[in-house]
Amino acid sequence: MIIHLKSTYSAQAAQILAEEHQAILLQQSQRNVLVTSASIKRLPTGLEAAAEEVFYFESDLQLANRNYQAETRSVRVGPYVLGGAQKNTLLIAGPCAVESEQQIRASAELLVSLGLRTLRAGCFKPRTSPYSFQGMGLKGLQLLDRIRTEYGLQIVTEVRDATHVDAVIDHADVVQVGAKAMYDQGILRACSKANKPVLLKRGFGSTLQEFVQAAEFILSGGNEQVMLCERGIRTFESKTRFTLDLCGLAWLKAHTNLPVVLDPSHAMGHAFGVPDLARACVAMGVDGLLIETHQRPTEALSDAAQQLDHQAFQALFTSLKPVAVSIYRNLI
Ligand code: PEP
Ligand code: MN
Repeated sequence: MIIHLKSTYSAQAAQILAEEHQAILLQQSQRNVLVTSASIKRLPTGLEAAAEEVFYFESDLQLANRNYQAETRSVRVGPYVLGGAQKNTLLIAGPCAVESEQQIRASAELLVSLGLRTLRAGCFKPRTSPYSFQGMGLKGLQLLDRIRTEYGLQIVTEVRDATHVDAVIDHADVVQVGAKAMYDQGILRACSKANKPVLLKRGFGSTLQEFVQAAEFILSGGNEQVMLCERGIRTFESKTRFTLDLCGLAWLKAHTNLPVVLDPSHAMGHAFGVPDLARACVAMGVDGLLIETHQRPTEALSDAAQQLDHQAFQALFTSLKPVAVSIYRNLI
């Protein structure tokens, strides 16, 4: 249940009500809001006089629910706005990981040459094996700072665990929470207090409900800048790495008010399928697209098989433009 309190209630009075009713207090710019579990179906006694407007929901998909706010929320990424009344599709691209100054510089130059501005690369990689490349860590974040300034880019980079979440929040323009971190309460709560947009990836074994509830942790902590990222779920199929859930995309678009970014690279797991999937995603009207690209994919230290080389990325970008135009979207 979401309760908008009357404006006559001060922040302090709202805090007391929140504690009395085990509700989360959310201080929006215009008003104080209480959020309780959706399982509470009647306005609790004692709140009648304080409530200006009350919203009931079938499940804990509440702040992100289109029945609460019909228009897609606006999320600002540098100079761009996703969602809202905008028809922008943000192309977020770069290598899986920062590997060296030369490598990340080559990625930045590729983007700039195409008029793109949103570079994504990980410094803390959540690998499946402890013996694989784990990322450059803080050194990588410092490199990304330099690249941002030099090339005028926005940086999307991921947090792996709570030990470095504050460093990633400080250095990133958009904080990526990876699929394996989707349930990490420490990360979600730290992101909920951050003044940075968050790109929340869907766990590959998570239902849509669990996915959106993870986003509710960030929203209910006070950070309204959340984007959902579908990156493939695990099915019985083993020929592809994961299965890109386009039905899930349609559901998220219909039921949630959060901008949705699609990641065909991690879903497919092989470069050969990525361009077709990317065009399909853009045709479905996504707010963003995440594509992995590397100057020499065969030498990449992580996710080598799925990264497009720069030439293939350029060809993909050229082919995406008319698809975006055909559904009246700006590919940026
Ligand atoms: C990544 O984006 O490089 C990554 C590790 O993705 P995911 O968390 O979706 O597996
Ligand atoms: Mn990757």
